[in-house]
Amino acid sequence: MNGKIRYGKKSIGYSIVKSTRRKTSEIQVDEKKIVLRVPSTKTKDEIRNIMEEKKQWIFKRQLEFADHEKRRLSTKQKTPLYMQKRTWKLASKIGVKPSKVVVKNLKSRWGSAGKNGTITLNRALTKTPPRIIDYVIIHELCHLKIQNHSKAFWNLLCRFDKNYESKINWLETHSNQIL
Ligand SMILES: [Zn+2]
Repeated sequence: MNGKIRYGKKSIGYSIVKSTRRKTSEIQVDEKKIVLRVPSTKTKDEIRNIMEEKKQWIFKRQLEFADHEKRRLSTKQKTPLYMQKRTWKLASKIGVKPSKVVVKNLKSRWGSAGKNGTITLNRALTKTPPRIIDYVIIHELCHLKIQNHSKAFWNLLCRFDKNYESKINWLETHSNQIL
Protein backbone atom coordinates (compact mmCIF):
# COMPACT_ATOMS: atom_id res chain seq x y z
CA MET A 1 0.00 0.00 0.00
CA ASN A 2 1.19 3.50 -0.73
CA GLY A 3 0.34 6.96 0.50
CA LYS A 4 1.42 10.54 0.01
CA ILE A 5 1.98 13.46 2.35
CA ARG A 6 2.40 17.12 1.62
CA TYR A 7 4.70 19.46 3.46
CA GLY A 8 4.66 23.00 2.18
CA LYS A 9 5.11 22.72 -1.54
CA LYS A 10 6.68 19.29 -1.33
CA SER A 11 4.90 16.03 -1.68
CA ILE A 12 6.48 12.69 -0.91
CA GLY A 13 5.29 9.15 -1.19
CA TYR A 14 5.59 6.47 1.42
CA SER A 15 4.77 2.80 1.62
CA ILE A 16 2.63 1.22 4.26
CA VAL A 17 3.37 -2.22 5.61
CA LYS A 18 0.66 -3.75 7.78
CA SER A 19 1.38 -6.57 10.14
CA THR A 20 -0.89 -8.65 12.35
CA ARG A 21 1.92 -9.24 14.85
CA ARG A 22 2.72 -5.58 15.29
CA LYS A 23 1.40 -3.65 18.31
CA THR A 24 2.95 -0.23 17.66
CA SER A 25 3.59 1.93 14.63
CA GLU A 26 7.01 2.77 13.33
CA ILE A 27 8.31 5.06 10.60
CA GLN A 28 11.55 4.35 8.79
CA VAL A 29 13.13 7.15 6.81
CA ASP A 30 16.16 6.80 4.62
CA GLU A 31 17.44 8.79 1.65
CA LYS A 32 15.30 6.94 -0.88
CA LYS A 33 12.13 5.90 0.87
CA ILE A 34 9.75 6.22 3.76
CA VAL A 35 8.16 3.10 5.19
CA LEU A 36 5.38 3.15 7.73
CA ARG A 37 4.92 -0.11 9.61
CA VAL A 38 1.60 -0.38 11.43
CA PRO A 39 -0.58 -2.96 13.13
CA SER A 40 -3.06 -4.41 10.64
CA THR A 41 -5.98 -2.91 12.59
CA LYS A 42 -5.03 0.68 11.68
CA THR A 43 -7.51 2.43 9.44
CA LYS A 44 -6.69 4.72 6.52
CA ASP A 45 -7.54 7.78 8.62
CA GLU A 46 -5.40 6.65 11.51
CA ILE A 47 -2.50 6.09 9.15
CA ARG A 48 -2.94 9.53 7.67
CA ASN A 49 -2.98 11.05 11.17
CA ILE A 50 0.26 9.31 12.09
CA MET A 51 1.92 10.72 9.00
CA GLU A 52 0.49 14.20 9.55
CA GLU A 53 1.83 14.26 13.08
CA LYS A 54 5.24 13.07 12.05
CA LYS A 55 5.69 14.89 8.78
CA GLN A 56 7.88 17.67 10.13
CA TRP A 57 10.23 15.11 11.59
CA ILE A 58 10.20 13.10 8.32
CA PHE A 59 11.15 16.11 6.19
CA LYS A 60 13.87 17.06 8.63
CA ARG A 61 15.35 13.58 8.38
CA GLN A 62 15.24 13.77 4.59
CA LEU A 63 17.00 17.15 4.63
CA GLU A 64 19.70 15.63 6.80
CA PHE A 65 20.20 12.90 4.21
CA ALA A 66 20.39 15.48 1.44
CA ASP A 67 22.98 17.49 3.39
CA HIS A 68 24.99 14.38 3.97
CA GLU A 69 24.92 13.61 0.26
CA LYS A 70 26.08 17.14 -0.56
CA ARG A 71 28.98 16.83 1.86
CA ARG A 72 29.93 13.46 0.42
CA LEU A 73 30.05 14.97 -3.08
CA SER A 74 32.05 17.98 -1.97
CA THR A 75 34.80 15.82 -0.50
CA LYS A 76 35.33 14.53 -4.01
CA GLN A 77 35.97 18.07 -5.24
CA LYS A 78 39.19 18.82 -7.00
CA THR A 79 41.62 21.24 -5.38
CA PRO A 80 43.43 24.29 -6.78
CA LEU A 81 46.65 22.27 -6.59
CA TYR A 82 45.06 19.58 -8.75
CA MET A 83 44.15 22.23 -11.33
CA GLN A 84 47.68 23.61 -11.36
CA LYS A 85 49.24 20.18 -11.84
CA ARG A 86 46.70 19.36 -14.52
CA THR A 87 47.57 22.58 -16.35
CA TRP A 88 51.27 21.72 -16.49
CA LYS A 89 50.45 18.23 -17.72
CA LEU A 90 48.10 19.43 -20.46
CA ALA A 91 50.52 22.21 -21.42
CA SER A 92 53.20 19.72 -22.31
CA LYS A 93 50.66 17.71 -24.31
CA ILE A 94 49.63 20.80 -26.28
CA GLY A 95 53.22 21.99 -26.58
CA VAL A 96 52.98 25.32 -24.78
CA LYS A 97 54.81 26.66 -21.74
CA PRO A 98 52.86 28.91 -19.39
CA SER A 99 55.07 31.27 -17.38
CA LYS A 100 52.86 30.80 -14.32
CA VAL A 101 49.62 29.03 -13.34
CA VAL A 102 47.44 30.92 -10.88
CA VAL A 103 44.17 29.79 -9.29
CA LYS A 104 42.07 32.54 -7.75
CA ASN A 105 38.54 33.84 -7.43
CA LEU A 106 37.37 35.49 -10.61
CA LYS A 107 34.02 37.24 -10.84
CA SER A 108 32.84 36.72 -14.38
CA ARG A 109 35.15 34.33 -16.18
CA TRP A 110 36.39 30.79 -15.89
CA GLY A 111 39.94 31.52 -16.82
CA SER A 112 42.31 33.70 -18.78
CA ALA A 113 45.62 33.57 -20.59
CA GLY A 114 47.77 36.66 -20.11
CA LYS A 115 50.11 38.06 -22.77
CA ASN A 116 53.00 37.29 -20.43
CA GLY A 117 52.03 33.61 -20.49
CA THR A 118 50.23 33.48 -17.17
CA ILE A 119 47.31 31.08 -17.05
CA THR A 120 44.70 32.14 -14.51
CA LEU A 121 41.96 29.74 -13.49
CA ASN A 122 38.83 30.50 -11.51
CA ARG A 123 38.82 28.83 -8.11
CA ALA A 124 35.11 28.11 -8.67
CA LEU A 125 36.16 25.42 -11.15
CA THR A 126 36.82 23.19 -8.15
CA LYS A 127 33.03 22.85 -8.00
CA THR A 128 32.80 21.51 -11.55
CA PRO A 129 33.49 18.00 -12.88
CA PRO A 130 37.07 17.16 -13.97
CA ARG A 131 36.14 17.11 -17.68
CA ILE A 132 34.98 20.74 -17.37
CA ILE A 133 38.18 21.73 -15.57
CA ASP A 134 40.12 20.11 -18.41
CA TYR A 135 38.17 22.01 -21.03
CA VAL A 136 38.82 25.41 -19.43
CA ILE A 137 42.51 24.60 -18.99
CA ILE A 138 42.85 23.44 -22.61
CA HIS A 139 40.95 26.51 -23.80
CA GLU A 140 43.29 28.90 -21.98
CA LEU A 141 46.40 26.97 -22.98
CA CYS A 142 45.37 27.16 -26.64
CA HIS A 143 45.22 30.93 -26.21
CA LEU A 144 48.97 30.87 -25.60
CA LYS A 145 49.21 29.88 -29.28
CA ILE A 146 46.26 31.80 -30.70
CA GLN A 147 45.00 34.81 -28.76
CA ASN A 148 41.61 35.23 -30.43
CA HIS A 149 38.55 33.02 -30.95
CA SER A 150 39.09 32.53 -34.68
CA LYS A 151 38.28 29.35 -36.58
CA ALA A 152 41.94 28.39 -36.27
CA PHE A 153 41.63 28.65 -32.48
CA TRP A 154 38.63 26.29 -32.31
CA ASN A 155 40.33 23.88 -34.70
CA LEU A 156 43.36 23.79 -32.43
CA LEU A 157 41.22 23.31 -29.33
CA CYS A 158 39.27 20.54 -31.04
CA ARG A 159 42.49 18.56 -31.49
CA PHE A 160 42.79 18.27 -27.70
CA ASP A 161 39.12 18.24 -26.73
CA LYS A 162 36.80 16.77 -29.33
CA ASN A 163 33.65 17.28 -27.27
CA TYR A 164 34.37 20.86 -26.34
CA GLU A 165 30.92 22.03 -27.45
CA SER A 166 29.15 19.93 -24.82
CA LYS A 167 31.38 21.51 -22.18
CA ILE A 168 30.61 25.01 -23.36
CA ASN A 169 26.94 24.08 -22.99
CA TRP A 170 27.55 22.73 -19.52
CA LEU A 171 29.29 25.93 -18.46
CA GLU A 172 26.53 28.06 -19.92
CA THR A 173 23.82 26.21 -18.04
CA HIS A 174 25.73 26.09 -14.75
CA SER A 175 27.36 29.53 -14.69
CA ASN A 176 24.55 31.08 -12.65
CA GLN A 177 24.87 28.49 -9.91
CA ILE A 178 28.64 28.43 -9.71
CA LEU A 179 30.04 31.85 -10.59
ZN1 LIG B 1 38.91 32.16 -24.98
